[in-house]
Amino acid sequence: MSRVHEEGKTGFAATFRPLLDDRQRPARRITKNDLTRASRSDNPGIQSIAGKLKQAIKSEQRRITPDRIVLTVVALFGVFILSGVINGLMLPVIGLGDPGIGVLVFIGLIVAAHIVIRAYVRRGTLNQLARTAVAEGVCGSCAFPLQAVPVADDGCMTCPECGASWRADRVIEPFWEKPAADRLRSGFWPAITPGVLPKANLFAPDDRGRFVQTPDSRLMRVPKDVRAGIPRDEWRRIRRSTRMSGIIWRWVLFLVLIWLPLLGATGAVTAAQDEEFGLMWFLIVLTTTIGVPILLIPFSAAFSTPHRTSRAIVRRGRCACCLTSLADAETDREGRARCVTCASAWLTSEVQQKK
Ligand SMILES: [Zn+2]
Ligand SMILES: [Zn+2]
Repeated sequence: MSRVHEEGKTGFAATFRPLLDDRQRPARRITKNDLTRASRSDNPGIQSIAGKLKQAIKSEQRRITPDRIVLTVVALFGVFILSGVINGLMLPVIGLGDPGIGVLVFIGLIVAAHIVIRAYVRRGTLNQLARTAVAEGVCGSCAFPLQAVPVADDGCMTCPECGASWRADRVIEPFWEKPAADRLRSGFWPAITPGVLPKANLFAPDDRGRFVQTPDSRLMRVPKDVRAGIPRDEWRRIRRSTRMSGIIWRWVLFLVLIWLPLLGATGAVTAAQDEEFGLMWFLIVLTTTIGVPILLIPFSAAFSTPHRTSRAIVRRGRCACCLTSLADAETDREGRARCVTCASAWLTSEVQQKK
């Protein structure tokens, strides 16, 4: 596992870490309303930041992580237990033993669990959302543009709208200088190849915690001119690494599920021996329908999330956003190499070896 800078970390601990501004004061987190207001701005730069932040949230919500699996399982158990308690004990007591109401209680609890999980996922991304917003030149707490805000002696800019302070050097690609370029390509083949995510779902935080676009694990969304600039051998090595990301989880899922079609096939053989051909054909169709997708899991792109792909590319010494080589990149005090093309910052393995 490659090293990830504190600011690029996601997951359980990051979700409950308070958001501090750069004067170490607790900062308010960006809300949906802030993003909606920003997306209605007259300035196309601010509009595009709002769009990018919304895409980053959606991209994060698709990710499957251990803490989210645990939370989902706990929530499901909670729903079953609570609905059992409410329907079994409470309702008859208050004279509402109707099975229809029992179903409504169950559905209500499922909806509540869904809202809790979404809120958890959203909260986990908000620290990075703040970093991303500041990098693009808007306040990380309220999305107010920082364009005309003066820099104080300590190097911080104070948002005139909400009072949060952000280090001016966090502003990397401000919307008033150059709009953030699209680093991935659309096109027919990426759109129809299984496992290649849409561009809107390909975001990962760099090591400053800023969401940047990152290629899919098959590298099909890398623009052709970028690919042409990378030697063939190196390209193959990078793609092998990105394809390998998440492979352990694919095999785990495969081994967990493969007994289902095996059971079906055994059943079909038994049915054939008993000359129950109706049942046999039913089991053959069932086994094939669920068996083929399960057999394809190890070769799929499942679990090759943008986060894993980005780390695989950085381990190969290139920027995980635009694939520029990080060999000659300047490193900051915290060991992050700053990509000369797109200004993303990555902790590289060279730094890892030095420490
Ligand atoms: Zn603000
Ligand atoms: Zn780059």
